[in-house]
Amino acid sequence: MTFRLACGDVMPGCNAHFESNDRDSLMQEVAAHASVDHGLHTIDAATADTVAAHIRAA
Ligand SMILES: [Zn+2]
Repeated sequence: MTFRLACGDVMPGCNAHFESNDRDSLMQEVAAHASVDHGLHTIDAATADTVAAHIRAA
């Protein structure tokens, strides 16, 4: 199974896309990107829920 996230679904205007075979790895990639590119150094529960809600599994 592949998990995908389009950052733009969570952060409008962002073109970053993420893909991983592992949901936790995907969340870590997104968290790293959010820290570097969006200045979000901590992902709170609400943000994590929003991100999780936009992950597509295929
Ligand atoms: Zn982004």
